[in-house]
Amino acid sequence: MEKKICPKCCSEKPLTEFHKNKNTASGVVSRCKDCTSEYYKFQRKEQQAYARRYYMSHKEEAREYYQNRKAFLKKERFVKMLAKKYNLSLMKYDQMLLSGCGLCHTMPGDGEYYKIDYCRKDGGIRAALCPECYELVNTLPDLPKVREYIANTPYVQYALTLAEDDL
Ligand SMILES: [Zn+2]
Ligand SMILES: [Zn+2]
Repeated sequence: MEKKICPKCCSEKPLTEFHKNKNTASGVVSRCKDCTSEYYKFQRKEQQAYARRYYMSHKEEAREYYQNRKAFLKKERFVKMLAKKYNLSLMKYDQMLLSGCGLCHTMPGDGEYYKIDYCRKDGGIRAALCPECYELVNTLPDLPKVREYIANTPYVQYALTLAEDDL
């Protein structure tokens, strides 16, 4: 049986232990099968290590990108909902929130959107409320502070204009 020495592991092996290659005089590649597979294993490991290093160094960037994207989509959904359900532009919503929640006056956090206190019958809007106050107004209308809020905050009709829609 014909044999050949692998230059990598320096051992003499039968030609069947080498991958075929028509372009060489011997008809096989120079390194033995074992050394070839070792080489590819090493390559794969290197690639994985590189990918891992790349991921680690770009993790923050990627996270920020996805968070921004999420926040953007959330805002987009909110703006659409405002227009569709309340006939309200984002500008009007922001104006409504200049002094915070209509009842407790806290400001919404970053990426947080308050609820709209509105009249189901005629679509008039009273104010934007934080989730807690929205709950109070809808469940405990006899609470003194809720009563006061209801008495002092009239429903307003907002008409969405085209110009506002562009904002
Ligand atoms: Zn070898
Ligand atoms: Zn509130």
